[in-house]
Order: sequence, then C-alpha cells, then structure tokens
Amino acid sequence: MEKFLRPLGRQLTRPRPKYPYAVPAVSYARRYLTVPHTVPALKDKSLFIQKCFVNGEWVAAESGKSFEVQDPATGKTIGTCPEFTPEDTHHAIAAATTAFPSFRKTLARERARLLRRWHQLMLDNADDLATLITWENGKPFADAKGEVLYAASFFEWFSEEAPRITGDTIPSSIPGNRIITLKEPVGVCGFITPWNFPAAMITRKVAPALAAGCTVVAKSPSETPFTANAIAELGLRAGLPKGVVNIVTGLDNTPAIGKLLTTHPEIRKVSFTGSTNVGKLLMQQSSSTLKKLSFELGGNAPFIVFDDAIDLDAAVAGVVASKFRSSGQTCVCANRIYVQRGVYEEFSRKLAEKVKGFNLGHGFHEGITHGPVINERAMTKVAEHVRDAESKGGKIIIGGSKAEDLGLNFFHPTIITDMTKDMQLASEETFGPVAGIFPFETEKEVVELANAAEVGLAGYFFSKDVRRIFRVAEALEVGMVGVNTGIISDPAGPFGGVKQSGFGREGSKYGIDEFLTIKTVTFGGMGEPLQD
Ligand code: NAP
Repeated sequence: MEKFLRPLGRQLTRPRPKYPYAVPAVSYARRYLTVPHTVPALKDKSLFIQKCFVNGEWVAAESGKSFEVQDPATGKTIGTCPEFTPEDTHHAIAAATTAFPSFRKTLARERARLLRRWHQLMLDNADDLATLITWENGKPFADAKGEVLYAASFFEWFSEEAPRITGDTIPSSIPGNRIITLKEPVGVCGFITPWNFPAAMITRKVAPALAAGCTVVAKSPSETPFTANAIAELGLRAGLPKGVVNIVTGLDNTPAIGKLLTTHPEIRKVSFTGSTNVGKLLMQQSSSTLKKLSFELGGNAPFIVFDDAIDLDAAVAGVVASKFRSSGQTCVCANRIYVQRGVYEEFSRKLAEKVKGFNLGHGFHEGITHGPVINERAMTKVAEHVRDAESKGGKIIIGGSKAEDLGLNFFHPTIITDMTKDMQLASEETFGPVAGIFPFETEKEVVELANAAEVGLAGYFFSKDVRRIFRVAEALEVGMVGVNTGIISDPAGPFGGVKQSGFGREGSKYGIDEFLTIKTVTFGGMGEPLQD
C-alpha cells in the first residue's frame, strides 16, 4: 500500500511550469508586452505575507526553502511562500493540538463574536483581498470582489450557528433510564483546499470548524497561497487565539504534507476540496486512523434546457453564469449542456451572441469579464477537449483556440454544437471556458445522459412545467439542483455532492455537523416515584 500511495501522490501534484522559461523567450516577451497591466497597490501592504502561519506567528520553513507563485495571466512572479516539510507541519499540528482543550471550552457566544469580527474585517479589506485573488488566480476583479463577500458570508453565517449547537433529550426504551446527547467539537481538523476560490474554499471550512470549537491546520493551494495568508492575518487581528488556525504551504512537499494531515493521530477530521483523484488518495491514507471525512470533489454538471423553458434568454443567462464563471473553473460549472431539439438552434445562436460580448483579458483591466485559466496544464486539457470534439463531428461556432496575444493562459470562450456522448467532454470535467451543446429528444433520454457521469455534484434545468420540475429534480443523481437558475452557491444552502463528487455538506445549518460528534449520556435509576 505504502509503495503504491507515494508515487501516486507525487504524480497527482501539478508540475509547475517554470515561467518564463517554459515558453520561448521571444514569444514570452511579446505576450508580456501586450499585457501592460499594473497590479493595484494594496491599501494595507501588510496583508501581502510570504510566510506560513503557525501558533499565531508568521514563520518560514526551517530549511529556508520556498517556492514561487506566478500571475497566471503573465507568468510574472508575484512572490514566494515557504516550502514546508512534514517536520515543519508537525509544529502546526502541535500548535492546533495544544490550543484545542481551551478553545473547545470557550463560550459559543465568544466564538460567534470572533467570527463576526473576522467577517467585518474581510468586508473592510475587501478590495485588498480581491486584488490578491485576481493577482494569483486571474479572475476579473469584480468576480474576485464577489468571492470575498461570499467567503466572508461563511463567517457571518456560522457566527449565527455557533450559539445554536444543541443536543436532545430522548425518551429511553429502558425503564428508569434517561438519555441526553451532547454535541462536541470533533477535534483538530486538517484542511486541503484548491486555487479556484482562494478565499471561499478555506472560509467555508474554517468558519464552521471554529463555530463548533475545533482547531485547524490548513494547507492552502500552492497557486494561490497569498489570499489565505491575508485572511489568516485578518483572523489574528480579529482576536484568534494562538494555534487555533494554522496555515501551511508547499509545492513539491504537498503529497508529504497531505500524507501527514491524513495519518497524524491528533488530527480527527480531514476536509478536502479538490479533484476526485486526489480525494481517493486522501481517503485511502485517512483509513489508517479512521478520520471523520468530508470531501467536495470534481463535478461535470449537466445543464438541461427543455423546449418548454419559460424564457430562453433566462436559460442563456443561466448557462453564461454557470458555464463561464471563473472561465469555467468552478466545480459546479455546467459542463454538458443538453438542449431539446425544438429550441436547439435558437438557443445555440442566442448563447453565441452573448459569448461574443465577453471581454477576455487580464483581471485588473477595466471592463474585463473573463480572465485566464490557471496554468499550462489547464490550457492543455481545454485544447484537448476542443480538438477531440471537433475530430468527432462537433462544430465550433465561436472560439476554439488559444488567445496568445493576450498573455499566457488565455483561451477564447468557446461554444461547440452537435456534441455526442462519445466525446471526452461528455465524461470528463473540462474546467475551462468551453460550452459543449448536446441535442436531445425526450426527458427520459436526457436524464439518462445526465446521470451517466461517475460524478454528481450539481445539475441544472430550465422548464416551466411544475410536474416535470419535480420529476427531473428527483431523478437527477446530483447533490444540488438549480431549477430555472444557473447560480446555486449560497451560504444558506447545503453544498456538496453524491457519487464520486464526494460526501458531506458545507454551509447551511448542516455544515456545522461535519465538525461535531454526538455523545450520548444515559442516566440510570431515574424512574423512582416522588418521595414522601
Ligand atoms: P487538486 O489537484 O486536487 O488540488 C486541490 C488541493 O489538493 C490543492 O491544495 C493541492 O495542493 C492539493 N493536492 C494535490 N495533490 C495532493 C496530494 N497528493 N496530497 C495532498 N494534497 C494534494 O485539484 P485542482 O485540479 O487544483 O482543483 C480543481 C478540482 O477541484 C476540480 O476537480 C474541481 O471540481 C474541484 N473542486 C471541487 C469543489 C467542490 O466543492 N466540490 C470546489 C472547488 C473545486 P497544491 O496546490 O500544492 O498542488
């Protein structure tokens, strides 16, 4: 087992292209010169932190080693972060372990106030946080600002949940016994999060963990570590006690850090958001100490437009929101767009019109609606899906190629019609700005196609027939359904998947359960009659 896991883990980490050396110098210079953006200065420069956060302090790796983080649009180095080893990570786990006994005893109201202060500080520093997100992730500044508000909303939501953690009193089936339950924090939690929402993926885990009274060691994504660092610094300013939240970073050492987080006996809970393959590896590793797990993994969302859709323009807007948000790099992005024959031509034409209006470019430029994809590996996958569809009869009606004149990782938003189920895009998450439109005839046929995927995170459909709405919503094998909308992310709604999209729910009133255990306390000899 050991032999099998190590090489697999290594193979699953992304090879990081060494910019600018990965592209020919001449063409790099040309590309760079055509992207004359400047990164806005942070209002609070102390939020740009190139260290790890351990026991309330900002520290480097003991070896002094670090790795570079690049702007995905230009390949320019933004800064460096510590290449933590498992030994360095041990210090973070020790800090979280030491902090747990006193943090778990804090009043829920006290933890709620901490989360509310943290929420407010995120709002107060929203522009700086959005700047960091756009810089390291590439998404347009307006989208980045939206992410900051969404990320902060988890602190607000779980500040409200913390004081409402209550147990039950349960009638016993044994005479004279009384049963109560206590909800207790699960313990030290290990988190691993991805780059596509550098702020929201981490706050969606940290907020419920702290509300429950847990402490945390989080490994932030190597492509986007600076946003997580700025959020941790704001947590420190909000009054985070030492060791309650620790943030570690690594690139080459990622598999080893992941191994430690999933096998260390003091870590009782692992929450991971990322790809299904890495999720499977982490689950195998976690089995050695049987940790409580929640996994938010890959999706390949079907988006169905029935010919009785209330309003085709609304369905087009739904696809634009769901498919092209973050240049197609969200786990709930529509990937397979199924359109019923009666409206197929009209829908495809309307969608192409909308996509023509997109403004692709560097996220800091005024008026930009869509940014780059994250790296060369993502570019390769997107190009491969387009080539594969074209070779099997798909028609590219807009886009279909790289936009090399704009910078490093830009791909033109693309629409392909006449898609068929044997194409790669039908069975694999593209994670890029490519909308493949599949024609279909009947409700039964499309639900079968939609459910053919191994994963089941989100699914969407547009229809005005209320009976069909219930039939289809109940038949789709996914964790979340959007009916007549392409936007489903909301701190109030449970977020998570079924099948190989993972298990567990984040956000909502259920999100906190992932960080609690139920202790049953049974009182015997309680059935005596009243005393004289
Ligand atoms: P990924 O490769 O699985 O990376 C995600 C995180 O896992 C990163 O922090 C990464 O660290 C870490 N990681 C990679 N290999 C590891 C290993 N062997 N051991 C421990 N940690 C490891 O995923 P991605 O391709 O970057 O992210 C996109 C995927 O995430 C998509 O499939 C998307 O659908 C999914 N996602 C799901 C949700 C959801 O809620 N269901 C939300 C967002 C994204 P490094 O950065 O250091 O490599």
